[in-house]
Amino acid sequence: MLPASLTRQLAAIVGPDALSEETAPFAVHGRAPALVITPATVEDLARAVAACHAARVPLVPWGGGTRQRWGRPVAAETFVVLRTTGLRSILLHEPDDLTISVEAGMTFAALNAALAAHNQMLPLDPPRPEQSTVGGLLASGADGPRRLAYGTSRDLLIGIRVVEATGRISKAGGMVVKNVSGFDMMKLYLGSLGTLAIIVSANFKLIPRPRAAASLSCFFAQPERAFRLITALSASQLTPAAVEYREDGAAASIEARIEGLPAAVERHVRDVRRMAEEAGAGAVSLAAEGFAEVERRWAGFNDAPQTVDLAADELVARLSCLPGALEAALGDARALAAREGLALRVQARALGGVAYLRLRGGDEALRAWHAAMLARWPHLVVIGAQPALAAELPVWGAALANLDLMRRIKQEFDPENLLNPGRYVV
Ligand SMILES: Cc1cc2nc3c(=O)[nH]c(=O)nc-3n(C[C@H](O)[C@H](O)[C@H](O)COP(=O)(O)OP(=O)(O)OC[C@H]3O[C@@H](n4cnc5c(N)ncnc54)[C@H](O)[C@@H]3O)c2cc1C
Repeated sequence: MLPASLTRQLAAIVGPDALSEETAPFAVHGRAPALVITPATVEDLARAVAACHAARVPLVPWGGGTRQRWGRPVAAETFVVLRTTGLRSILLHEPDDLTISVEAGMTFAALNAALAAHNQMLPLDPPRPEQSTVGGLLASGADGPRRLAYGTSRDLLIGIRVVEATGRISKAGGMVVKNVSGFDMMKLYLGSLGTLAIIVSANFKLIPRPRAAASLSCFFAQPERAFRLITALSASQLTPAAVEYREDGAAASIEARIEGLPAAVERHVRDVRRMAEEAGAGAVSLAAEGFAEVERRWAGFNDAPQTVDLAADELVARLSCLPGALEAALGDARALAAREGLALRVQARALGGVAYLRLRGGDEALRAWHAAMLARWPHLVVIGAQPALAAELPVWGAALANLDLMRRIKQEFDPENLLNPGRYVV
């Protein structure tokens, strides 16, 4: 139960309409919050955070809710969900400078639509763009297939504004592309899962929309053949925007997204097709052509990391390894899944070494798979599992480096442990 005085105070700050006791849809790991608030301005949000801080009530920041399964259950009986969807404006767009500042609750679909009018793009392509928010993507350190060509949010973010645990508003970075000297504070918030501060706006550098684009699908009867193509692509001079490897049962496929000047796209399509045929592809087809068509095709492509529709018997893990080790890692994942009688579906950033593994089967088999896999591949993060299983597994992987440092940083930023308590490694 929340103290009645805090509920009254929050209602006075955000307005009664922005406060809801219908909390079931905002349950985190099966536990519903005591209250849900949706501030309409940064100042209201900061005042609400300050009020919760004074009352020592924990807060869970909530964007689109697409990644609330990540991490450990919230270590608090009573907590408030603070939604950022009231903050969804473009604060400043300088098309000539290729920079933009947006509020954290804006979705990627809305942001991309606004940028399309200027022939520009922010090439971060999270799953569920119509739901996924800018703040949520940054806080979870998530990325998409085009990280291959354009980098992750780490590379595209140039400034950030946050509300700290006490309600203080602070900022780091700015609106110019090269502005950091000394310690780059804003990178701290990337991937910290809302445990250090609540992100309220972010500034990015933008990329002009490519003049041409194409997407090529290559199908293989066996994973080994697909990896022949991956090896050939890594050794080549080609620079595709994204190369995704997918495996479901025995069949494997590779989809290459190519963007750039028309002549370069044409050459890539020709070369990738030839290399796929040499690697033993069963079929190769030009799946989409032109930026809008390619964009449509890929909108649902990065679906394996999403955990909104998690089935009752499903576990989703993210594996990171050196790109050259990906084939071996997926081989282990496959063999162990077969041993445990689990169904496995894979989607990997083929040239990067990040893979999303979706497994289905009984809890006992999932536990055994996870333990055996983790013993070989320490950077294995569980990003989706039923609450009881997530609570018992070492979801962040093994042999975490810098744990002490991360604990000290958390202590510095949030000594009362009120922001997403227990959720991340500290
Ligand atoms: C208190 C606290 C403080 C934090 N401070 C910071 C901070 O100061 N700076 C910061 O950036 N983040 C910080 N974080 C966030 C955290 O470190 C990131 O979420 C985490 O590193 C994952 O990063 P990512 O999502 O970018 O991973 P990805 O984009 O998936 O890529 C990085 C991953 O690749 C793997 N990898 C990379 N290189 C290799 C290699 N050579 N061999 C094998 N595997 C490799 C690693 O496993 C790593 O997890 C902090 C978090 C907390 C809670």
